[in-house]
Amino acid sequence: MAKPTQDRNFQLLATPITSIKGVGPRVAEKLARLGVLTVGDALYTLPHRYEDRREFRRIAELREGRHEVFAGEILACGEVVTSRSRRGIYEVIVSDGSGQVGLKWFHYQKEWMSKKFTPGRKAVFSGEVKRFGATKEVHHPEVEMLAAGQSLADYRSSDPLAFGRILPVYPLTDGLSQYAARKIWKQVVDLYAQYVESSIPESVGSAQKLIPLAEALNYVHWPPDSADVERLERGSDQARRTLVYDEFFFLELGLAMKRQGVVLKPGIPFKVGHKYTRPLAAMLPFRLTGAQKKVLGQIKQDLMAPHPMNRLIQGDVGCGKTIVALMTALVAIENGTQVAVVAPTEILAEQHFLQFRHWLDRLGLQTVLLRGKMPAAVKRSALEEIRAGRAHLVVGTHAVLQEGVEFEKLGLGIIDEQHRFGVRQRAVLRQKGMNPHILVMTATPIPRTLSMTLYGDLALSVIDEMPPGRTPVETSVIPEKQRDRAYDLMRRELDKGHQVYVVYPLVEETEKSDLLAATEGVEYLKNKVFQDVSIGLLHGRMSSEEKEAVMTRFKSRELALLVSTTVIEVGIDVPNASVMVVEHAERFGLAQLHQLRGRVGRGEAGGQCLLIKSVKCSEDGNKRLEVMKRTNDGFQIAEADLEIRGPGEFLGTRQSGLPDFRVANILRDSRILEAARRDAFQLIEQSKGLLSPEYDLLRHELKHRWGQRLELASVG
Ligand code: ADP
Ligand code: MG
Repeated sequence: MAKPTQDRNFQLLATPITSIKGVGPRVAEKLARLGVLTVGDALYTLPHRYEDRREFRRIAELREGRHEVFAGEILACGEVVTSRSRRGIYEVIVSDGSGQVGLKWFHYQKEWMSKKFTPGRKAVFSGEVKRFGATKEVHHPEVEMLAAGQSLADYRSSDPLAFGRILPVYPLTDGLSQYAARKIWKQVVDLYAQYVESSIPESVGSAQKLIPLAEALNYVHWPPDSADVERLERGSDQARRTLVYDEFFFLELGLAMKRQGVVLKPGIPFKVGHKYTRPLAAMLPFRLTGAQKKVLGQIKQDLMAPHPMNRLIQGDVGCGKTIVALMTALVAIENGTQVAVVAPTEILAEQHFLQFRHWLDRLGLQTVLLRGKMPAAVKRSALEEIRAGRAHLVVGTHAVLQEGVEFEKLGLGIIDEQHRFGVRQRAVLRQKGMNPHILVMTATPIPRTLSMTLYGDLALSVIDEMPPGRTPVETSVIPEKQRDRAYDLMRRELDKGHQVYVVYPLVEETEKSDLLAATEGVEYLKNKVFQDVSIGLLHGRMSSEEKEAVMTRFKSRELALLVSTTVIEVGIDVPNASVMVVEHAERFGLAQLHQLRGRVGRGEAGGQCLLIKSVKCSEDGNKRLEVMKRTNDGFQIAEADLEIRGPGEFLGTRQSGLPDFRVANILRDSRILEAARRDAFQLIEQSKGLLSPEYDLLRHELKHRWGQRLELASVG
């Protein structure tokens, strides 16, 4: 059987990097900082660029902005001290007969430099070429001196690792030279690349024109002379494509298995009798939008199937996801099961509770709120209601997911603002019932490529239409010195009877100072600007009762102006609020700003978003504010965000479930991702989850690559 060899290969690739010659404990420590602990890690830590040392470049032909390698004779060298910087610069002028180039060091040890460089000596140099006026310069080049009397040809042949070929450039850490890195990687590739094998089925591999992984690794680490360096750096050669495809394929295969695992479990097929949904529709003050109806239709299909639903609703802030969740909940209740609704914050849980209870009361159904801190007696009775099945719908924060919470019969779990939770929560919720249906909602518009990876095991519904009567929010960026402009506008809106939010960022360094900013802000507004206006303050260190009290007063319009730290970020719904003022707007991320802006423009009142910009505003900060001014479209904002920040940081946290890619780049390689996803899902479907023995190898490898993560999924 092939399995034992594959296991042996996995083991070989797990060989500690210290087994490589030249890697002692100190070098190992440096490599660990790059995430390289095993030879397998090293194989998959690819060069981030290449140096073309097939030929030395003539100095006259050095290209600006490129990393070039050239040889020459030192004409002059020495320290230059400019009066302006008062710091020395070490300069070396080099010529090869075709032209001259200046080399500069800004950090150096003078004695050492003077010993190293003497006019008349020959050396080989490499570095990025810059232009300085009419001359070309290289700063901090790498230098390899020729021995006295040594010819260039002799030198070249003395070290085949360094010359006459395309060389890889590896990411480095302090104290590890490129030269040392190359020597380490060379050994790793020569010794171990041959053990890397992929069990991607032949048919898939040939359709994608994949080459053997060992060959691909050899190619990207030590490109042959015939390679095209530009293509290599762009990552569009077949070798890198193969590695990227391979990585994506196993990711998607795992997601497809997870999806299949959940989808194929016996669920609780519901009947849709409209017992509660019809009366609800009659009571609602509005009609569902086309998009809401479409999504509800998709949900109902899922609910009636014999397998559990596992669906994500994506829709911009304010598109009306809650009502869709409510309708779905009513179908579950009609079928004699309970519903759990999980929200990321106490305030949001509270708001959902009030809203759900409002409608459920009228339908004669019972709603229960669970929160982190509750009086023991109240909690005990709530838990009892849930256990006995008398509570039809339970709303709460992750308190709902805790151990003591047992349902009599949980038929549906709803998770709001999914991006705040990890994948784990879904699995926990699933275990609280007999494979209940799961509905997750997110207002974070995620570019397609990213959502495929993040939520790849969920079916996707998109609400792409706003309820009628919404006016697009108008956004202005106001420098803090012109804050009065913001006050004028706030005043005008307050005079019309509308309400206003003022939001302060969370200052991370000192937990207290964000509160201070908000508190001082309130005092200032109260005493200096809006003496006649009722102003409330909301911040993260208030108890949930206190927060709730303030929110209730704001909702009932007793308070006209609400000053807050970011706690109001998600989901708060007060249609009469028409102005959102964001202080230090440049400190917020795009997604957050978009969420905040979504709090206004929800009703007839229209909406204005005023982004107050501090004097110190970074370039990225400016870019973000510009994006906000330019568009209201959540997806465009998400795309821009992804571009500014890059995929790794896009969702901020590890818990978002975004895997670390070893070679792939989700932005650059999105086409490959789509192909890999299509192929993987197709394979899982055709093979009914890789059942037959011909897929033993593939299953084995999948398990190896996903490790714990797949296990977690199969539990849920
Ligand atoms: P989100 O999708 O951000 O969770 P909500 O569900 O909070 O949005 O809905 C935002 C507001 O829009 C709420 O006040 C809600 O009552 C209202 N709403 C939802 N659907 C409609 C509709 N079809 N027509 C009019 N208003 C609607
Ligand atoms: Mg919402």
